[in-house]
Amino acid sequence: MIYDVAIIGAGVSGASTAWQLSHFDCRTILLERWADVGFGVSKANSGIVHGGFHHPVSTLKAKLEIRGNLMFEKLQYELGFPFQRNGILVVAFSEEQMATVRKLYQQGIANGVRNLEMCGRDRLLELEPKLNPEVVGGFFAPNGGTIEPYRYVFSLVEGAMRNGVELQCNFEVTQGKWNAEESFWRLTAADGREISARRVVNAAGLFADQISHVCGAEEYRIHPRKGEEYLLDRNSSARPRRVIFPVPSRDSKGVLVIPTAEGTTMIGPTADPAEDKLDTTTSADNMHRIVALVRQMVNGISTRDIITSFAGLRPVLESEDFYIARSEKAPHFIQVAGIQSPGLTASPAIGEYVKDLLKEDGMTLTEKNHVVQELPVRHEIRHETPETLDTLHKDDPRWTHVVCRCENISEAEIIEAVRKGHTTLDGVKFYTRGGMGRCQGGFCSAKIMKIISRESGIPMEKLTKKGGNSRLLGGVLGSAEVEPMPEK
Ligand SMILES: Cc1cc2nc3c(=O)[nH]c(=O)nc-3n(C[C@H](O)[C@H](O)[C@H](O)COP(=O)(O)OP(=O)(O)OC[C@H]3O[C@@H](n4cnc5c(N)ncnc54)[C@H](O)[C@@H]3O)c2cc1C
Repeated sequence: MIYDVAIIGAGVSGASTAWQLSHFDCRTILLERWADVGFGVSKANSGIVHGGFHHPVSTLKAKLEIRGNLMFEKLQYELGFPFQRNGILVVAFSEEQMATVRKLYQQGIANGVRNLEMCGRDRLLELEPKLNPEVVGGFFAPNGGTIEPYRYVFSLVEGAMRNGVELQCNFEVTQGKWNAEESFWRLTAADGREISARRVVNAAGLFADQISHVCGAEEYRIHPRKGEEYLLDRNSSARPRRVIFPVPSRDSKGVLVIPTAEGTTMIGPTADPAEDKLDTTTSADNMHRIVALVRQMVNGISTRDIITSFAGLRPVLESEDFYIARSEKAPHFIQVAGIQSPGLTASPAIGEYVKDLLKEDGMTLTEKNHVVQELPVRHEIRHETPETLDTLHKDDPRWTHVVCRCENISEAEIIEAVRKGHTTLDGVKFYTRGGMGRCQGGFCSAKIMKIISRESGIPMEKLTKKGGNSRLLGGVLGSAEVEPMPEK
C-alpha cells in the first residue's frame, strides 16, 4: 500500500497539514516518534496567538503569522479547542523603551494589522488594571489571544482522522529512501517498520535537520533555543486580562505575563541557546530572573504562587525564518523547518501553505464530497451548568465522580481521553487537564493511572508518563514483580 502523503511529525505544523489534506481525496499518514501527538515543541510554549507586529512582513514567518492569526475563530468553531482573543499589550517603562514601542507599532501598521492602538499611561491602566502604575506608554493589539496548544493539536488530529487520515505513533523515522523506478518514498522506523508514500512532508520540528539528512535532501542545522516557563496557581491575584509584553530583544519577544486560555497565569519564557535538543530542565536562577522581570510590569506576582515549571526548545535556523519549500535535492519532499515562534500562531496558515506546495509539486487534490467539518461537542464538567451536569449524571454517574479536584475533572472525562487513544499519563493530562492544578497530580495521578489501566487493558506496571522509557512504577506492586525502572 502506497500512501499519497506521509507527514513526519505530529506537532502543530504536521497536524495542521493533516487537517488541511483531510478535506481532499488522498491517502495521508501522520508519523510521530512519541507515544502521542503534540509531545514535541507544540506542548511546551506560551500558547499565544501573536498579533503580527513583531517581524517584518518580508519574512515568511510574519506572512504566515498574520494569515494564521485570522484563521482561529473558524478553526475553533469547527474543532472546539480553548481559545480567547483577549488582546496583547506591549508596555514601556522609559522614554527609551517607547522608541521601540513606536517602531513595533509602525511595523504592525506596515504589516496590515488592523485596530492597533497607541496608548498613554491612563488608557493602558484602563485596559489592564494589574499593570504597574509606573508604566509610561505602549500599544494595544486587540487581535492577539491565547490558546491551549496541546488541545489544539489533539483537535486537529482528531478532525483529520475522522476524515480518513491515519496516525502511527511510536514511529521514529530513521531512514528515507526514494525509489526512482516506481516513484515512491520508503520510510523506515527505528523498530524496523516501513511505510511507503508518493510524497513526504518533513515537519519534524527540532529534528527536521536529521530527517532532511537521512532522506538525502538539503543539509542544514536546527539550533535549539530554550524557553523556560513558570505556571502560577489559578487563584493568583496577579492574573491579568490581557497578554503583557515588554519591549522585545534581538533574540526573543521578552518575558511575558500570560493569562492562559484555561484560567491560569504563566510567566516566561527565557530564550537561551541549548546544546541538547531534549534538555527540558528548568533552574531556580531562571525562575528568580523571570519573576524579577515580570514584577516590573505586573503587580502581585509571588513565587509562592508558582505551581510548576517546564521548558520548550525553539527549532531555530541560521536565517531566523521559517523554511517551508519543496526540496531542490530530494524529489517530492517538502521541508517545514525552522518553525520557531510564531509557529503556533502561523500553524493554520502553514497547513494551507504546505497543501499549496503539494499542488505545485504535481499532486492532484480533489475535494471530498463529504467531510466532517465539526467535532462533536465535548463535555467538561468544570464548564457545565448544574442542569447539564444532572442530565450527564443520570446517563452515567461517572460524570460526577470527580477524580482531579484541583481542576475539577471527572472519571468520565478520563475514560473519554483513553478511548480516544491517549493512554499515557501526560496524554490524559493534556487532553483533560487532570493533574494540571495546584497539587500537580499529587492526589489524582494514582487514580488516573488505575482508570487508564482498566480502560486500556495496559497493566499498571507498564503504564508510562509519556511513552518510551518513562515507566511510572518500579519495584514490587502487590503480588506482581515489576522490573526495575530503566536507566534514563
Ligand atoms: C518556550 C516557547 C514558547 C513559544 N511560544 C509561542 C507562542 O506563544 N506563540 C507561537 O505562535 N509560537 C510559540 N512558540 C513556537 C511554537 O511552539 C513552535 O513554533 C511550534 O510548536 C512548532 O511546531 P512543529 O509542529 O513545527 O514542531 P513540533 O511540535 O516539535 O512537532 C514536530 C514533531 O515531530 C516529531 N518528530 C521528530 N523527529 C521525528 C522522527 N524522526 N520521526 C517521527 N516523528 C518525529 C516530534 O516528536 C514532534 O512531535 C514557542 C516555542 C517555545 C519553545
